[in-house]
Amino acid sequence: MEKFRDFYYYQEEDFYYLYFYKLNKSIKIDSENIELFNDVLNGIKCYDEFYSDIVKSFNIKEREIKEEAFIKNKPKAFLLEITNSCNLRCKYCYKDEPDNNIKIINFNYIEKIANYIIKNSDYQSQINIIFFGGEPLLGFKFIKEFINKFELMLEKSNIINKNVNYSITTNGVLINKEIADYLKLKNFTIQISIDGDEQVTNFKRLNKLGQGAYNDILNGLKFIDKNINLLARVTITDTNLNLLDNFKHLYSLGFCSIAQSEAFNMLNYENIEILLKNYDDYLEYFKEMLFNDNIYEALAMRDVIILLYKIHYGEVQLFNCGAVTNLLAIGVNGDIYPCQRFINNNNYNIGNLNKSEIDYKKCISICKEFKECENCICYSTCAGGCFFNNEIYNNDLNKPFYADCMIKKFIFEKSLKIYNKLTDIHKRKIFN
Ligand code: SF4
Ligand code: SF4
Repeated sequence: MEKFRDFYYYQEEDFYYLYFYKLNKSIKIDSENIELFNDVLNGIKCYDEFYSDIVKSFNIKEREIKEEAFIKNKPKAFLLEITNSCNLRCKYCYKDEPDNNIKIINFNYIEKIANYIIKNSDYQSQINIIFFGGEPLLGFKFIKEFINKFELMLEKSNIINKNVNYSITTNGVLINKEIADYLKLKNFTIQISIDGDEQVTNFKRLNKLGQGAYNDILNGLKFIDKNINLLARVTITDTNLNLLDNFKHLYSLGFCSIAQSEAFNMLNYENIEILLKNYDDYLEYFKEMLFNDNIYEALAMRDVIILLYKIHYGEVQLFNCGAVTNLLAIGVNGDIYPCQRFINNNNYNIGNLNKSEIDYKKCISICKEFKECENCICYSTCAGGCFFNNEIYNNDLNKPFYADCMIKKFIFEKSLKIYNKLTDIHKRKIFN
């Protein structure tokens, strides 16, 4: 796509498609207006007039100042690290605690955490409580007791309009009938970490004896009711670069939503090149499913759907994710961090269960505008990338990580072209 002033554009058949990247708005220039548009491109017609005429037709909300949005935001999602320990030994895991440093969250924290969430969350809205680890089901007893207590305290607090969603990110191996029934009862969203078919999953997801864990994961899956919100989370490494194969296999296992994300520490430059080609095939398949009326399978491609939502609703994101602004992670020791990936990094310890206040001074550095993003086509939908990746790979929270940007831009351009082809019927099916 070409960039011109405030938009990116491309031509297809008899039309030009323009995408105003700072407004997250896409328009089509039809044959009647093509001449005018060419005059604008060639400097014959006044650009400012053209721009203001087009922009008038948009319903645009003023973009908030990052710092102000940051201060007024209240967390809506709380991640609870139930344990730093795991029953598996996946090769890419960032939790590599030695066996003598294993911690399970203390039962004495139950009331404090419940209190902390009730006090610090946005009491007007829905909140999400996400249990993770290590392997959170090692602390299943804690999870149950916590939910009992939390719900009682919430009831007593007289807070109305508070919807609570529970979710869990698990390797699935420990799921049995009792656990599956409880997760169903509490309407959990279950996110299972699995990387594709048996062979690719077993390359990196191993048990303590070094054997592939695929069959153990499937053993846990068989207890889960088909009507539950069941997601697969694929970690992309050098051994499962074929996104489409991963997707097709997991869809055939009954996952209704599949998200794939890169572990950049396991990918080299050549892998990224292959990955870009594979993203192309993946998005072509999405198109095929959509245009052949196989909407359910298309809807299971979670990353594509999320991006289409962002384009459709035209919201301009200020931050890439909710870290600090909408999300807090509570570590196994009761310390608070911007998200789960920062746990145990003292530079980003922003509070503790014993203090009600969050140390916003420490977080304020994330409110900077990123120079690299100013002209980027993903300005409104990515807004700076993952803080953790920026920090790890660039040593700078505020400097976008090149490999991630390459992938994001590629996916965005292709998804935008798909979006521009959607009919009203498609839009109703996807966005309603
Ligand atoms: S893709 Fe990279 S440059 Fe573009 S908005 Fe995201 S972080 Fe910034
Ligand atoms: S900083 Fe990165 S890892 Fe943390 S929530 Fe944001 S996107 Fe996820």
